[in-house]
Amino acid sequence: MTARVIDGKAVAAELRAGLKARIATLGYAPGLVVVRVGDDPASGVYVRNKDKAAKEAGFNSRTIHLPADTTQAALLARIAELNADPAVDGILVQLPLPAQIDTQAAINAVAPEKDVDGFHPMNAGKLASGQPGLVPCTPRGVMHLLKGTELRGARAVVLGRSQIVGRPMAQLLLAADCTVTIAHSRTRDLPAECARADILVAAVGRPEMVRGDWVKPGATVIDVGINRLADGRLVGDVAFAEAAERAAAITPVPGGVGPMTIACLLENTLDAAIARRGG
Ligand code: NAP
Repeated sequence: MTARVIDGKAVAAELRAGLKARIATLGYAPGLVVVRVGDDPASGVYVRNKDKAAKEAGFNSRTIHLPADTTQAALLARIAELNADPAVDGILVQLPLPAQIDTQAAINAVAPEKDVDGFHPMNAGKLASGQPGLVPCTPRGVMHLLKGTELRGARAVVLGRSQIVGRPMAQLLLAADCTVTIAHSRTRDLPAECARADILVAAVGRPEMVRGDWVKPGATVIDVGINRLADGRLVGDVAFAEAAERAAAITPVPGGVGPMTIACLLENTLDAAIARRGG
């Protein structure tokens, strides 16, 4: 079998175009503010890409760039101002934060209704208890890529249990009626767990760890991993060529899950705007 390659770039472009069309009918531009602290170089690229995509889709987007020595109190005060600003619908605190700032305190400070990263414990709790709320962007993007795949009753294995990908991913698959297993670094016989999966989502951050013979013939494989090799190549957590021999459908890296994350940040911001202001 040679798998269908799921084109995340195309799905993300379609999603962004749909958001742009909806914003054009709103009568206001939803506001997104990204707060960046310090000069982490990778964050710089992410923040610029978010801002560009947001502006192109018609959002009122801006970035607040604070110095690396910003105190936690100063950051929390800034977040409180944004929480109170009626023109701001979505607030994203770019991670990682400098060492003097407690990341969880910063996440907790964002008003849950403006928490477009979906990391606030209130939103995590809503997701876990099956209530509507803001959902982390990457797992939300994966669910878009799985549209058209039979999920009800399917056996799903999520490899990785982080707060930002693995756990919320598992919750969304559960809500879609999959039978879900969460695997992690202490899981026994990982290849055998993966080989039972109709839907396999890899989010471990280990280059090409998932080999072809870990993939059930006919499975759908979603590769969230983004790993830069010493030779400069970008690869996922799945050995793509081997896995594509057995899977029915698979996401590439790059061009799979990656483009969905920003598109879903914008989708969350529009949802947050409509929930607060209507539209
Ligand atoms: P993370 O916080 O480091 O979590 C990694 C998870 O993988 C942990 O639960 C860990 O298990 C598990 N793990 C690590 N090594 C393992 C092994 N050898 N066997 C089994 N499980 C193992 O990473 P993350 O933030 O979730 O990100 C995962 C990957 O997705 C990274 O490559 C990241 O760059 C990528 N990512 C991509 C996007 C995107 O937009 N496409 C967004 C976010 C992240 P323990 O809990 O037991 O330690």
